[in-house]
Amino acid sequence: MLKLTPATKVLVLTGAGISAESGIRTFRDSGGLWENNRVEEVATPEAFSSNPIKVWEFYRQRYEDSISRKPNPAHFALVKLEHFLGDNFLLVTQNVDCLHLKAGSKRVLEMHGSLATCICTHCHSKLAIKDIDLTKYIPTCPFCNGVLRPDIVWFGEIPHYLSLIDDALRNCSIFLIVGTSGVVYPAAGFVLTAKLMGAKTIAINLEKPDNLSYIDEFYQGKSGEILPELVDKWING
Ligand code: NAD
Repeated sequence: MLKLTPATKVLVLTGAGISAESGIRTFRDSGGLWENNRVEEVATPEAFSSNPIKVWEFYRQRYEDSISRKPNPAHFALVKLEHFLGDNFLLVTQNVDCLHLKAGSKRVLEMHGSLATCICTHCHSKLAIKDIDLTKYIPTCPFCNGVLRPDIVWFGEIPHYLSLIDDALRNCSIFLIVGTSGVVYPAAGFVLTAKLMGAKTIAINLEKPDNLSYIDEFYQGKSGEILPELVDKWING
């Protein structure tokens, strides 16, 4: 069994599955969020150009739904791991639901953006959604009246922090992947870099992920049940 010391460098990648037990629907599972919404119509820059009202309606609903959601034991287990490792811990999330931050994680990179903020397409100000008039079909910037867009990295756009993430992948000893199907790139390819650079790769997922062949240790099941137990064992032996 793996035993961590505070000097072990651990990089964690999370996906929609870690938030499933908080009641947030995942991406590709049946009954998932995208079953009733075509990606091309709500999550691409082209969709926003041609129908911003529809795109805002989708993200307004997701934002309003996210407000009442609470972190689950898997999110809290990562907070515990971060307390133990300090600066040797980094969490990269594909999720936009803010649940890691709500749980208390500090060293978090939200590579696909956040539901809690939006960006002005004209003056590029970043604004908290809670400060925006969301009753407008297309919310506008309080500073310049430009059109606001959700602060989400859509399909066809480049995720945030890729250079920082690449550095972390090359320098970690443990790469832990939680609740991601291994389908959406570039995140799905991170495991390959970490493994080639010598990290031990560990994954927890309800189903076998697509990139399973690069995983050294795979735990199949719910992250809210498996992760707290694993973190305890890794820290306390
Ligand atoms: P995904 O839906 O493709 O995969 C989720 C994976 O989680 C599945 O393989 C599923 O088997 C697994 N899973 C479901 N419940 C689980 C549980 N309780 N414990 C452990 N695993 C569980 O999601 P993805 O890989 O993150 O990629 C989808 C993209 O959509 C991401 O880029 C993400 O930004 C976005 N997304 C985000 C959210 C969110 O913010 N919560 C929700 C949906 C989609």
